[in-house]
Amino acid sequence: MPRPIRALIDVHAVRHNVQVARGFAGASRILAVAKANAYGHGLMHVLPALGACDGIGLLEIDAACQLRAAGYTKPIVLLEGFFDEDDLTTMAQHGLSPVVHSARQLDTLMRVTLSAPLCVWLKMNTGMNRLGFAPTEFHRALAALAASANVSRTVLMTHFASSDDGMGVADQIALFDRTCRGGAHARSLANSAALIAHAASRADWVRPGIMLYGASPFADREASALGLRPAMHLTSRLIAVQQVKAGDTVGYGMAFRAVNEMRIGIVACGYADGYPRHAPTGTPIAVEGIRTRTVGRVSMDMIYVDLTPVPQANVGSAVELWGNTVSVDDVATASGTVGYELLCALAPRVPVAVVDDGALS
Ligand SMILES: *Cc1c(COP(=O)(O)O)cnc(C)c1O
Repeated sequence: MPRPIRALIDVHAVRHNVQVARGFAGASRILAVAKANAYGHGLMHVLPALGACDGIGLLEIDAACQLRAAGYTKPIVLLEGFFDEDDLTTMAQHGLSPVVHSARQLDTLMRVTLSAPLCVWLKMNTGMNRLGFAPTEFHRALAALAASANVSRTVLMTHFASSDDGMGVADQIALFDRTCRGGAHARSLANSAALIAHAASRADWVRPGIMLYGASPFADREASALGLRPAMHLTSRLIAVQQVKAGDTVGYGMAFRAVNEMRIGIVACGYADGYPRHAPTGTPIAVEGIRTRTVGRVSMDMIYVDLTPVPQANVGSAVELWGNTVSVDDVATASGTVGYELLCALAPRVPVAVVDDGALS
């Protein structure tokens, strides 16, 4: 019998979240962002739920080829573009759309001879200062693409630095619009946070990622309040119970000391499963559906849970690390990170079960 830890991937929840995104997107097309193995959920597991989207955004060319092999025919955009000429050959073969964000990429694209022209997403740097052409260089890049036999169509894109907080996106939208003015090309700006919070950013294509998996892009707005459902449920069981006395300590470094006599559950889940090692005493966790707290330091394979609110719990009791009762965002906040990181960090050793019957949501 394998260890009791499981990641349940709820395809039904992804389908639901796509409809939520659709509600925000209006007439805009949706590029479902599924990089990093669909944020840890398994690209092939969630693919059936992405049918209502208009394309898929990735960074990994292997994953893109896998999608084509699986019969996916809609646009696939590689968000960091290509890294060498071989990538371009592969993209032409499989009809993949690279982002072009640098003069170096543009030079390569101008130099090669491809078997088929590509749809290119030309990226402008409007303040993120990560990838993209400066607004002053943008028109020259656009003209070069227009003149190239390797390019069939161009979509203009940018990416926001602060769509999830009070800093907002108005300046970046204004710069993008001013620079794109007059062109007839399709445009794309919005990630999940902008799609939800900044209607003015929607344009022709929106690019939601995290919301499709049922986590929140915001620090101060819960996913459930946005109508989203968690697509990953990380569950395990108690494999031991300890009765400790007042003054006893629990785990490495004696990081937790019991004030009173109490029962401690030992959960088969640790940082080698993707649970954050920085989760402090007090991180929310559910046992038998009841919210309680972790205590002590996260070990490689186990964590400790306060069973005071769940006196009936015992070896074999069901534990939810994150899912419906405890959101991944709650665990992330307690641990000083974001839900994105926890979802992506699910460890390969955790068995995955895919469910698609609505039973979890
Ligand atoms: C990852 C990514 C997205 C999706 O962002 P979320 O915050 O997950 O919605 C959109 N656009 C680009 C360029 C990205 O890299």
